[in-house]
Amino acid sequence: MTVLDDRLVSVYDEVLARNPGEAEFHQAVREVFESLTPVVAKHPEYLDSAVIQRLCEPERQIIFRVPWTDDKGQVQLNRGFRVEFNSALGPYKGGLRFHPSVYLGIVKFLGFEQIFKNALTGLPIGGGKGGSDFDPKGRSDAEVMRFCQSFMTELYRHLGEYTDVPAGDIGVGGREIGYLFGQYKRITNRYESGVLTGKGIGWGGSLVRTEATGYGTVYFVDEMLKATGDSFEGKKVVVSGSGNVAIYAVEKVHQLGGTVVAMSDSSGYVVDEKGIDLDLIKDIKEVRRGRIADYAAERGATFVQGGSIWDVPCDIALPCATQNELDENAAVTLVKNGCIIVAEGANMPSTPEAIRVFVEASTLRFAPGKAVNAGGVATSALEMQQNASRDSWSFEYTDQRLASIMRDIHDSCLATADEFGAPGSYTSGANIAGFIRVANAMQAMGVI
Ligand code: GLU
Repeated sequence: MTVLDDRLVSVYDEVLARNPGEAEFHQAVREVFESLTPVVAKHPEYLDSAVIQRLCEPERQIIFRVPWTDDKGQVQLNRGFRVEFNSALGPYKGGLRFHPSVYLGIVKFLGFEQIFKNALTGLPIGGGKGGSDFDPKGRSDAEVMRFCQSFMTELYRHLGEYTDVPAGDIGVGGREIGYLFGQYKRITNRYESGVLTGKGIGWGGSLVRTEATGYGTVYFVDEMLKATGDSFEGKKVVVSGSGNVAIYAVEKVHQLGGTVVAMSDSSGYVVDEKGIDLDLIKDIKEVRRGRIADYAAERGATFVQGGSIWDVPCDIALPCATQNELDENAAVTLVKNGCIIVAEGANMPSTPEAIRVFVEASTLRFAPGKAVNAGGVATSALEMQQNASRDSWSFEYTDQRLASIMRDIHDSCLATADEFGAPGSYTSGANIAGFIRVANAMQAMGVI
């Protein structure tokens, strides 16, 4: 592990003691702290005024009961969460995740990351995250609707376009945002478009929001390639996952001349050396809500049940599935197979041990999720801008804004890494640049 400044160690120990059993949250805090030693050396005031300590304590954490009735008439019970982590730069902003693995530690790790990610975009958004242990898999539309209505019946009182603005994440897409917005509108009797992002086109949504996280990920990698005079042309790419982030990452890789040869879901992965047929994946995943194995069967590609998608040799690896999906063994395999870039489309998909392997490998560059996947939330902030001005922008204009935000994030990571003695480290650059923006705002606002 990287050596931390002594005072950071004691703040970290305090975080462990105050938040027992929240392993993912500890991991996310540790990752940021590992970049902060040169910052506190130059600016001890961030510790003296307890900005760092306060940053690790959410401003507000909401946990609530979500009862709903299934299609058989039976009452089901889930737990809802919203962690309003930091509002120094703007209203709390971040997605909702519906997945059985969701508990407070997951929501806090995501909320903590979101603070720095949102700061990096340069847009006026604070950090928050929420969700539920509800599993939408196998549920009918009517069940999902009743769940969303019950969830919003409790959460609405904490939201508002100037207060807290949720969006989607794993398990929450356009369908869920529609049900959530409908219930918010009904309860409050307000057509408050800016209270949720990821809305449908035609009722307050922004063009490009659906594509934004995946496209933004690939725009970021394109900048990494350009920085060394390279391009996507002829590159073999592996993209894990087959949800919203993965699908639109594949689309953009193909537009830029690369070939995606493998994708996955929780049951296994497919290898398709001809290049993934995106229309088929979209039909299976977005329309039929099916499994990646169906792709292999219908396309005549190889399906590997279980196993590790990172065994598939590639030039560029884009983990776009979920946290801790890429471990040390996978990292060693990627390096051995000649992979030159790993860029995280998901939130915290690489374990700390995997990141260590990447950092030590001189042949590979690694870029963290909070920089790489910031295009999703950045476009959410653009959706809020359109809502505030009761306007809607064209696809081309919004896409250009997204591309230029990703270029700025890329450049600011490299410039900040240089300034703080870690040249070339996208991780240090992202953590430090995001941290400084939030920390300075917090200091200016006094002890709150
Ligand atoms: N869930 C996405 C993320 O991890 C997007 C959040 C948003 O658009 O508010 O950044």
